[in-house]
Amino acid sequence: MSAVCPFCSIASGKAQASIVYEDATVLVFMDLNPANFGHTLVVPREHWENIYEVPENVLADLFSVVKRVSSAAKKTVGAEGISILQLNGRAAGQTVTHFHIHIIPRFSGDAISKALGAMMEHHGLKNPEKSDLDEIAKKIRENL
Ligand code: AMP
Ligand code: ZN
Repeated sequence: MSAVCPFCSIASGKAQASIVYEDATVLVFMDLNPANFGHTLVVPREHWENIYEVPENVLADLFSVVKRVSSAAKKTVGAEGISILQLNGRAAGQTVTHFHIHIIPRFSGDAISKALGAMMEHHGLKNPEKSDLDEIAKKIRENL
C-alpha cells in the first residue's frame, strides 16, 4: 500500500468512490472523469504499479471481474460495444501508477471513437515486410 496512491486510499476506505464491486482481491469503481457513461475502473486491492508487477493469478482474478462488469455495464447503459483499456508507463499515457483496467462503454460515433479509432487505424508502421514481422516475433519469443 502506498500512502499517496489514490487507488490505495479507495481500497483502504480512506477516500470515497462509487463502488460497483469488491472482494478480497479486486475493487471496481466509477471513473471520476468518465470517457463515457458507465466508465469503470477495475483495480487490485494491493498496490502494483503496472502489468509487469501484477502476479498472473491476480490478473486472472481481475479479468474474470472485467468480463462480468463489461456485460453488466453494457446492459446498464445500453452500450453497443465495450472498449477495454490498460496503460503501462508514462509513454503509454498512464497517470495513476496503481495498475487498473478501464471498462469504457461505447456507442456508434461517440466522442471517443475518433481518438481510439485513430490509434487503431493509423498504423504507424505501414505494410511491413513479412521477414520484419518474423524477425520481431522471434525476438519477442526469445524474451518470453
Ligand atoms: P490512466 O491514464 O490509465 O492512468 O487513468 C487514470 C484514470 O483514473 C483516469 O481516467 C482518471 O479519471 C481516474 N481517476 C483518478 N483518480 C480517481 C479517483 N480518485 N476516483 C476515480 N477515478 C479516478
Ligand atoms: Zn496504490
